Amino acid sequence: AKQTGRNGMRFFDQKMQDSISSRARLEEALRHAILEHQFELYYQVQVNGTGQPIGAEALIRWRLADRSFMAPDSFIPVAEETGLIVPIGQWVIDTACAQLRQWRNEPGMAHLVMAVNVSAAQFHQRDFCEQVRAALERHGIDPALLKLELTEGMLLENIEETINIMQQLRHLGVRFSLDDFGTGYSSLQYLKRLPLSQLKIDRSFVRDLASDSSDQAIVLTIIAISRSLGLDVIAEGVETAEQAALLEQSGCHRYQGYLYGRPLPADQFRLSLAKCAGV
Ligand code: C2E
Ligand code: CA
Ligand code: CA
Ligand code: CA
Repeated sequence: AKQTGRNGMRFFDQKMQDSISSRARLEEALRHAILEHQFELYYQVQVNGTGQPIGAEALIRWRLADRSFMAPDSFIPVAEETGLIVPIGQWVIDTACAQLRQWRNEPGMAHLVMAVNVSAAQFHQRDFCEQVRAALERHGIDPALLKLELTEGMLLENIEETINIMQQLRHLGVRFSLDDFGTGYSSLQYLKRLPLSQLKIDRSFVRDLASDSSDQAIVLTIIAISRSLGLDVIAEGVETAEQAALLEQSGCHRYQGYLYGRPLPADQFRLSLAKCAGV
């Protein structure tokens, strides 16, 4: 039988899982999903040191015919291998911009910055920059409201080209956050050349922060690196008040995690913000 996961998502049972386990089947199902518009974006709030919402991360969800969800970790890797991440990623950027346009008219939401995950294959496409520019223009969005989340691995693949693409987008006003920071191998030499505006401390360093002194040291180091590079810093996976307090004491004043809110569909996200603003 289906089980309800921690995210409130219902996962496949083993039989269903096996039936699509082959890559070819999953690829076919993904193609179908693109044509049938089976993807949705959920939004998870990001807050500042006083708990005020400052932005949201858009997280993709694939809703299957039986209304259950497939988690992105189960299909994004195949979408990347097959190149299907290109149309999917394009849909994500367009949908995130359309959502920003709606927030512009909602009380207390017009300032929210939208963080969007971008895969390597998507980023290194020839016209990626133009796609982003067109989406911003189509929906009349201030580029400063869009933050692209990149990962270390994809940046090091081809550093000169990466810097070039990032600079073009940076000139438009789009900003960049380095996701899952600390899990890759970027040298400070590379980091300082990238036009980033934020480092995102990976959840793996936050999880045991209260008990693990090496995680505490790593977090302090990441915060020090962000300072010396003139970047802001956000922690993901914040689940407890104790983790938040330790991060705060260490000098990190932006947070994302279940403590503040789970990823939610747009309408529920809006209601959750209205509630926390006391409206
Ligand atoms: P990520 O970018 O590191 O996203 C954060 C993940 O942590 C999300 O999982 C989110 O639901 C989860 N999370 C948030 N707060 C907490 C917390 O307090 N505790 C715990 N345990 N988890 C938390 P999700 O939504 O399943 O996404 C998984 C990954 O899939 C993302 O990791 C990202 O790499 C990828 N992904 C999601 N949406 C997109 C997308 O639109 N495009 C691309 N290319 N990748 C995406
Ligand atoms: Ca992310
Ligand atoms: Ca992350
Ligand atoms: Ca992560």
